[in-house]
Amino acid sequence: MTFTYEALPMRVVFGSGSLRQLPQEAQRLGLRRLLVLSTPGQRALAEQAAALLGDACAGTFTEARMHVPVEVAEAARAAARATGADGCLAIGGGSTVGLGKAIALDSGLPVICVPTTYAGSEMTPVWGLTEHGRKRTGRDRAVLPRSVVYDPDLTVGLPVDVSVTSGFNAVAHAVEALYAPDASPIVSAMAEEAVRSLGTALPAIAADPLDTDARADALRGAWLCGACLGATTMSLHHKLCHILGGTFDLPHAATHTVLLPYVAALNLPAAPEADQSLRRALATDDVPDHLARTSAALGAPRSLSQLGLTEADLDEVVTQARAQPYANPRPITEPELRSLLRDALNGTLAP
Ligand code: NAD
Repeated sequence: MTFTYEALPMRVVFGSGSLRQLPQEAQRLGLRRLLVLSTPGQRALAEQAAALLGDACAGTFTEARMHVPVEVAEAARAAARATGADGCLAIGGGSTVGLGKAIALDSGLPVICVPTTYAGSEMTPVWGLTEHGRKRTGRDRAVLPRSVVYDPDLTVGLPVDVSVTSGFNAVAHAVEALYAPDASPIVSAMAEEAVRSLGTALPAIAADPLDTDARADALRGAWLCGACLGATTMSLHHKLCHILGGTFDLPHAATHTVLLPYVAALNLPAAPEADQSLRRALATDDVPDHLARTSAALGAPRSLSQLGLTEADLDEVVTQARAQPYANPRPITEPELRSLLRDALNGTLAP
């Protein structure tokens, strides 16, 4: 066995009520003027965080949007300059964390994150920016958050449908980490444990969204999934989701949820150890079928057509996917790719 593993410098504060520790986290980093970021829908939460920070809050910017459009990034960077911010606090899902990263990429300002979904971006040095219908991504240590505060209480109000799709978005990171070209035993152990905890927590949350133990398990699983994403190179699944989100504006987490079983069906036969690991974690002997049926049973969308993709869009997806090389446990021919996309378009695994 040979592998390389590089740990990312990362501080995590986890637990019910840990939002209250924000002022200490800012102080530890020597930050006195944080710009608080959120989406418009989470403005009240941003204001709560701003109040907790008191004098250490320089202002709020509550216009975060999915996939970080460059205009929004520019407006947020201008707000950071105008308020004299010495750091950002991103409170929300992957869209808000992504906006914090866009500011860090430009200015080097440190970011503190308080994640409220299971997307996992807070654990990665990966940034994304969308311009003219294309999403660009890159890796830069400067955007890696300095401190992450996970407070499961903040996820109790995450609607069940978003919880489910966001949870499967997290699972997708773990699945692709298990067969990544730079996989390692430590990442694989995290990935298996992450899938196990989300696999039991998501049905419990769907049954009772106020189940605080399940909320904590899901958030802990999401943290590990994010760490897997940050530590490895993602393959076909993430490549396709990136195109479907960036060019066709499909909703991020739901797209991951629908597509994952189809990519798993194609890739897992070429990645037997990953398959075994997922079988153990999900207590199933058919991982793609389990993923498709469970997500559908929990109310997630079943097909890409339900998300707005059409047969006419497939050519463009295939062209973009084949334009740049990507890692994958096995090579994929154009007819295979087309057939995978058509199956996901029609939801053949989740009748
Ligand atoms: P999101 O951040 O857009 O959140 C979805 C919606 O849910 C938003 O309106 C948000 O305000 C709301 N919301 C979030 N938490 C809530 C809560 N607890 N209660 C009620 N409402 C809540 O969606 P997302 O799926 O978290 O993130 C998607 C984005 O993150 C995409 O742009 C994706 O590319 C990016 N992402 C990046 C990485 C990376 O490593 N760079 C990793 C994962 C995702």
